[in-house]
Amino acid sequence: MKRQSFSLILDFDSTFITGETLDELAVISLVGHNRRDEIIDDIRKITELGMAGKISFTDSLKRRLNQLSATNDHLKQLSKNLKGQITASIERNQDFFIANQSRIYIVSGGFKDVIRSVTNDFKIREDHIFANDVLFDEQSNLVGIDLNNPLSRDHGKSQVIKKSNIPHPILMFGDGYTDLEVKKDGAADYFFAFTENVNRPEVTCEADRVISSFDEFIEMYQKGNLFDFQLITDKS
Ligand SMILES: [Mg+2]
Repeated sequence: MKRQSFSLILDFDSTFITGETLDELAVISLVGHNRRDEIIDDIRKITELGMAGKISFTDSLKRRLNQLSATNDHLKQLSKNLKGQITASIERNQDFFIANQSRIYIVSGGFKDVIRSVTNDFKIREDHIFANDVLFDEQSNLVGIDLNNPLSRDHGKSQVIKKSNIPHPILMFGDGYTDLEVKKDGAADYFFAFTENVNRPEVTCEADRVISSFDEFIEMYQKGNLFDFQLITDKS
Protein backbone atom coordinates (compact mmCIF):
# COMPACT_ATOMS: atom_id res chain seq x y z
CA MET A 1 0.00 0.00 0.00
CA LYS A 2 1.52 3.32 -1.11
CA ARG A 3 1.20 5.97 1.60
CA GLN A 4 1.88 9.64 1.17
CA SER A 5 3.19 11.97 3.80
CA PHE A 6 1.33 15.26 4.23
CA SER A 7 -0.34 17.42 6.86
CA LEU A 8 -4.13 17.45 6.69
CA ILE A 9 -5.87 20.67 7.75
CA LEU A 10 -9.61 20.53 8.09
CA ASP A 11 -12.06 23.35 8.26
CA PHE A 12 -14.70 22.99 10.99
CA ASP A 13 -18.05 24.55 9.99
CA SER A 14 -19.87 22.61 7.25
CA THR A 15 -16.81 20.31 7.04
CA PHE A 16 -16.14 18.60 10.39
CA ILE A 17 -19.70 19.39 11.41
CA THR A 18 -22.72 19.49 9.12
CA GLY A 19 -23.66 23.12 9.75
CA GLU A 20 -22.33 26.50 10.83
CA THR A 21 -21.43 27.29 14.45
CA LEU A 22 -22.90 30.79 14.47
CA ASP A 23 -26.16 29.67 12.83
CA GLU A 24 -26.55 27.07 15.58
CA LEU A 25 -25.61 29.57 18.29
CA ALA A 26 -28.32 31.90 16.98
CA VAL A 27 -30.90 29.09 17.19
CA ILE A 28 -29.90 28.38 20.82
CA SER A 29 -29.44 31.92 22.11
CA LEU A 30 -32.48 33.53 20.54
CA VAL A 31 -35.09 31.27 22.15
CA GLY A 32 -37.99 33.51 23.15
CA HIS A 33 -36.75 36.50 21.15
CA ASN A 34 -39.57 38.19 19.24
CA ARG A 35 -37.50 38.54 16.05
CA ARG A 36 -35.89 35.09 16.36
CA ASP A 37 -36.76 33.68 12.92
CA GLU A 38 -35.88 36.92 11.18
CA ILE A 39 -32.47 37.18 12.88
CA ILE A 40 -31.65 33.48 12.31
CA ASP A 41 -32.53 33.88 8.66
CA ASP A 42 -30.39 36.99 8.37
CA ILE A 43 -27.41 35.31 10.07
CA ARG A 44 -27.68 32.34 7.69
CA LYS A 45 -27.70 34.66 4.69
CA ILE A 46 -24.61 36.51 5.93
CA THR A 47 -22.81 33.18 6.59
CA GLU A 48 -23.55 32.09 3.04
CA LEU A 49 -22.33 35.37 1.51
CA GLY A 50 -19.06 35.01 3.40
CA MET A 51 -18.53 31.35 2.54
CA ALA A 52 -19.17 31.99 -1.14
CA GLY A 53 -16.56 34.78 -1.06
CA LYS A 54 -19.12 37.51 -1.79
CA ILE A 55 -18.36 39.54 1.35
CA SER A 56 -15.18 39.53 3.42
CA PHE A 57 -14.83 37.14 6.36
CA THR A 58 -14.23 40.04 8.77
CA ASP A 59 -17.43 41.71 7.63
CA SER A 60 -19.40 38.47 7.81
CA LEU A 61 -18.19 37.65 11.33
CA LYS A 62 -18.80 41.16 12.65
CA ARG A 63 -22.31 41.39 11.21
CA ARG A 64 -23.30 38.02 12.67
CA LEU A 65 -21.83 38.58 16.13
CA ASN A 66 -23.59 41.96 16.33
CA GLN A 67 -26.97 40.27 16.08
CA LEU A 68 -26.34 37.68 18.77
CA SER A 69 -26.67 37.98 22.49
CA ALA A 70 -25.22 34.78 23.88
CA THR A 71 -23.87 33.65 27.23
CA ASN A 72 -21.35 31.08 28.39
CA ASP A 73 -24.24 28.67 29.08
CA HIS A 74 -25.37 29.03 25.47
CA LEU A 75 -21.85 28.10 24.35
CA LYS A 76 -21.89 24.97 26.53
CA GLN A 77 -25.21 24.01 24.98
CA LEU A 78 -23.73 24.77 21.57
CA SER A 79 -20.84 22.31 22.12
CA LYS A 80 -23.32 19.65 23.21
CA ASN A 81 -25.55 20.20 20.17
CA LEU A 82 -22.66 20.24 17.71
CA LYS A 83 -21.35 16.91 19.04
CA GLY A 84 -24.54 15.47 17.60
CA GLN A 85 -23.97 17.20 14.27
CA ILE A 86 -20.63 15.74 13.20
CA THR A 87 -20.51 15.03 9.47
CA ALA A 88 -21.57 11.42 8.86
CA SER A 89 -18.50 10.26 6.91
CA ILE A 90 -16.18 11.89 9.45
CA GLU A 91 -18.05 10.31 12.36
CA ARG A 92 -17.71 6.83 10.87
CA ASN A 93 -13.98 7.31 10.23
CA GLN A 94 -13.07 8.31 13.77
CA ASP A 95 -10.35 5.60 13.74
CA PHE A 96 -8.55 7.36 10.90
CA PHE A 97 -8.44 10.58 12.94
CA ILE A 98 -7.11 8.82 16.01
CA ALA A 99 -4.48 6.89 14.03
CA ASN A 100 -3.33 10.02 12.17
CA GLN A 101 -3.55 12.55 15.00
CA SER A 102 0.09 13.61 14.59
CA ARG A 103 -0.67 15.22 11.23
CA ILE A 104 -4.29 16.31 11.48
CA TYR A 105 -5.13 19.95 12.24
CA ILE A 106 -8.25 22.10 12.40
CA VAL A 107 -8.09 25.74 11.30
CA SER A 108 -11.37 27.57 11.65
CA GLY A 109 -12.99 30.95 12.09
CA GLY A 110 -15.17 29.26 14.74
CA PHE A 111 -14.60 29.17 18.50
CA LYS A 112 -11.60 27.30 19.93
CA ASP A 113 -13.28 26.02 23.11
CA VAL A 114 -16.28 24.71 21.21
CA ILE A 115 -14.08 22.96 18.63
CA ARG A 116 -11.95 21.36 21.35
CA SER A 117 -15.02 19.98 23.02
CA VAL A 118 -16.67 18.72 19.82
CA THR A 119 -13.50 17.03 18.47
CA ASN A 120 -12.47 15.52 21.79
CA ASP A 121 -13.35 11.91 20.86
CA PHE A 122 -11.34 12.24 17.65
CA LYS A 123 -8.15 13.01 19.58
CA ILE A 124 -7.39 16.20 17.67
CA ARG A 125 -4.41 17.58 19.60
CA GLU A 126 -5.06 20.80 21.47
CA ASP A 127 -2.06 22.47 19.84
CA HIS A 128 -3.37 21.40 16.43
CA ILE A 129 -6.55 23.47 16.78
CA PHE A 130 -6.40 27.05 15.53
CA ALA A 131 -9.60 29.07 15.98
CA ASN A 132 -11.04 32.24 17.46
CA ASP A 133 -11.06 33.07 21.17
CA VAL A 134 -14.37 34.25 22.61
CA LEU A 135 -14.48 37.04 25.16
CA PHE A 136 -16.98 37.28 28.02
CA ASP A 137 -17.88 40.06 30.40
CA GLU A 138 -18.21 39.54 34.19
CA GLN A 139 -21.79 38.29 33.80
CA SER A 140 -20.62 35.58 31.35
CA ASN A 141 -22.16 37.34 28.36
CA LEU A 142 -20.34 36.81 25.08
CA VAL A 143 -19.10 40.26 24.13
CA GLY A 144 -17.06 39.39 21.08
CA ILE A 145 -13.91 37.68 19.95
CA ASP A 146 -10.24 38.53 20.44
CA LEU A 147 -9.39 40.77 17.50
CA ASN A 148 -5.68 40.17 18.03
CA ASN A 149 -6.22 36.64 16.79
CA PRO A 150 -5.56 36.64 13.00
CA LEU A 151 -8.48 34.22 12.52
CA SER A 152 -10.87 37.08 13.27
CA ARG A 153 -9.67 38.81 10.10
CA ASP A 154 -9.57 38.28 6.34
CA HIS A 155 -6.94 35.79 5.16
CA GLY A 156 -6.57 34.77 8.82
CA LYS A 157 -6.36 31.06 8.03
CA SER A 158 -3.43 31.63 5.66
CA GLN A 159 -1.62 33.85 8.16
CA VAL A 160 -1.99 31.36 10.99
CA ILE A 161 -0.82 28.44 8.86
CA LYS A 162 2.18 30.37 7.54
CA LYS A 163 3.21 31.30 11.08
CA SER A 164 2.78 27.76 12.41
CA ASN A 165 5.29 24.97 11.98
CA ILE A 166 2.85 22.63 10.24
CA PRO A 167 5.03 20.51 7.94
CA HIS A 168 4.55 20.68 4.17
CA PRO A 169 3.11 19.40 1.96
CA ILE A 170 -0.11 20.80 3.41
CA LEU A 171 -3.52 19.70 2.22
CA MET A 172 -6.37 22.09 3.04
CA PHE A 173 -9.75 20.38 3.19
CA GLY A 174 -12.96 22.41 3.46
CA ASP A 175 -16.16 23.72 1.97
CA GLY A 176 -15.71 27.48 1.97
CA TYR A 177 -14.05 30.27 0.10
CA THR A 178 -11.74 30.97 3.06
CA ASP A 179 -10.40 27.40 2.69
CA LEU A 180 -9.73 27.84 -1.01
CA GLU A 181 -7.98 31.12 -0.16
CA VAL A 182 -5.44 29.21 1.95
CA LYS A 183 -4.07 27.64 -1.21
CA LYS A 184 -4.42 30.83 -3.26
CA ASP A 185 -2.38 32.65 -0.58
CA GLY A 186 0.34 30.00 -0.79
CA ALA A 187 -0.19 28.67 2.74
CA ALA A 188 -1.28 25.21 1.55
CA ASP A 189 0.04 23.08 -1.29
CA TYR A 190 -3.30 21.53 -2.19
CA PHE A 191 -6.95 22.39 -1.72
CA PHE A 192 -9.68 19.75 -1.74
CA ALA A 193 -13.26 21.04 -1.73
CA PHE A 194 -15.53 19.00 0.52
CA THR A 195 -19.13 18.84 -0.66
CA GLU A 196 -20.84 16.34 1.64
CA ASN A 197 -22.67 19.14 3.48
CA VAL A 198 -22.65 22.01 1.02
CA ASN A 199 -21.54 22.38 -2.57
CA ARG A 200 -20.42 25.86 -3.58
CA PRO A 201 -19.52 26.28 -7.27
CA GLU A 202 -17.42 29.36 -6.41
CA VAL A 203 -15.22 27.05 -4.33
CA THR A 204 -15.24 23.76 -6.25
CA CYS A 205 -14.31 25.36 -9.56
CA GLU A 206 -10.84 26.17 -8.30
CA ALA A 207 -10.22 23.06 -6.17
CA ASP A 208 -7.54 20.45 -6.92
CA ARG A 209 -10.14 17.82 -6.12
CA VAL A 210 -13.80 17.77 -5.16
CA ILE A 211 -14.53 15.19 -2.44
CA SER A 212 -18.10 14.31 -1.54
CA SER A 213 -17.40 12.00 1.39
CA PHE A 214 -14.50 11.35 3.76
CA ASP A 215 -14.68 7.66 2.75
CA GLU A 216 -13.68 8.73 -0.74
CA PHE A 217 -10.72 10.63 0.69
CA ILE A 218 -9.53 7.61 2.72
CA GLU A 219 -9.91 5.29 -0.23
CA MET A 220 -7.66 7.50 -2.37
CA TYR A 221 -5.23 7.85 0.51
CA GLN A 222 -5.03 4.08 0.88
CA LYS A 223 -4.47 3.63 -2.83
CA GLY A 224 -1.79 6.31 -2.69
CA ASN A 225 -3.32 8.42 -5.47
CA LEU A 226 -4.55 11.47 -3.54
CA PHE A 227 -2.33 13.82 -5.48
CA ASP A 228 -2.44 12.19 -8.91
CA PHE A 229 -4.51 14.95 -10.50
CA GLN A 230 -3.03 14.53 -13.96
CA LEU A 231 -3.89 10.84 -13.97
CA ILE A 232 -7.52 11.61 -13.18
CA THR A 233 -7.70 14.24 -15.93
CA ASP A 234 -6.25 11.76 -18.44
CA LYS A 235 -8.88 9.18 -17.57
CA SER A 236 -11.82 11.53 -17.95
MG1 LIG B 1 -16.67 25.77 6.41
